Amino acid sequence: MPKKTVEDIDVKGKRVLLRVDFNVPITENSGVISDDSRIRASLPTIKYLVDHKAKVIICSHVGRPAGKVVENLRMAPTARRLSELMGLPVSMASDCIGQEVESKIGALKEGDVLILENLRFHPEEEANDADFAQKLARLADIYVDDAFSTAHRNHASIVGVAKYLPAVAGLLMEKELKVMGKLLHNPERPWACLIGGAKGSDKIGLLQNMLKKVDMLLVGGGMAATFLKAQGYEVGHSLVDDDQLDLARKLLQEAKDWKVPFLLPVDALVAQEIKAGASTRVVPTTSIPAGSHIVDIGPQSIELFCSKLGRCRTIIWNGPMGICEIPQFAQGTRSIARFLSTRNATTIIGGGSSAEVVQAMGLADKMTHVSTGGGASLKFLEGITLPGVEVLLDKK
Ligand code: ADP
Ligand code: MG
Repeated sequence: MPKKTVEDIDVKGKRVLLRVDFNVPITENSGVISDDSRIRASLPTIKYLVDHKAKVIICSHVGRPAGKVVENLRMAPTARRLSELMGLPVSMASDCIGQEVESKIGALKEGDVLILENLRFHPEEEANDADFAQKLARLADIYVDDAFSTAHRNHASIVGVAKYLPAVAGLLMEKELKVMGKLLHNPERPWACLIGGAKGSDKIGLLQNMLKKVDMLLVGGGMAATFLKAQGYEVGHSLVDDDQLDLARKLLQEAKDWKVPFLLPVDALVAQEIKAGASTRVVPTTSIPAGSHIVDIGPQSIELFCSKLGRCRTIIWNGPMGICEIPQFAQGTRSIARFLSTRNATTIIGGGSSAEVVQAMGLADKMTHVSTGGGASLKFLEGITLPGVEVLLDKK
């Protein structure tokens, strides 16, 4: 069932609490935003609300401050960037709830934009605390969710707040749901899912459901080490989710039972240290030296993955193939991005880091869709109703 959007309600003169995902990479100490694509992605919604004379109250999380104030994770650089992009003043509150915020909101005029401080400075946000959700809700008359990428999280500003206010989708949320919904209902086959990155504890469970949907699974990045270790191989000091090893083994078995090809890297770039300039070498994944770290997939794996993906009509990619923040370890990720950009197939890129690489290489236009959501897009494509979507009002 499609969800109501900002276009279905009257926002004029209303206080609108707009949840966005402005979780942008901010360079420590300098406050420079190295990739503002998440801010740009919500501009249509913000512009719509400003043009329709709402009082716009923007809230978001940045990073993982774990319930404390972290100076480097303040919203101020984001407010400045948004102001530049909009060509309008954007004011900043010193918190996301409380007296000062309420009086600032009281002074807003139609079309004004205010950004609240990082939601995750309060532990109640991630705990979906009802009292905190209520405090957020009393700031506004209407709740608009444009944060597709966090819609899989059961947090106060995503789920809790929607209990107390009329809740509708922003334009970015609407677009994500449309594009992904289409894919979910009628994917062109063969359909492959390529997973990398570091959040093994989030993603390995997802793979289990994906296995039943897709025609091929490929795993690279930090996740691969967990699967290699699960098969009994040495992985040195590589990132491993030890509590996921049983699940990884189960998954490998299920892939066999379901006859779904499950590809892991056959070679890897290993380094003695995770830092730029470290000495590296390429080794087969069956013989990772004990003291080393897997930092990228190797050239043979790139070739193998590309040749398999080349036969697919639909490709979902989530998570980098290596520690792509360090250019020396970004070859695997960049090669996959370049390859996918040349395909005449449906290519959906999700995930913070993988989407950033695609943006930075200027390849976003060459993909079918670069989703702002990583975990959220995977969950959605598994057919799971996202809690943040469920709470929005239905169109009819
Ligand atoms: P995304 O943001 O694309 O959804 P994740 O958040 O799961 O992906 O993971 C991104 C992180 O994974 C990046 O910071 C990257 O450095 C890290 N990563 C990728 N490969 C490895 C690896 N082999 N070892 C450690 N970290 C890795
Ligand atoms: Mg990430």
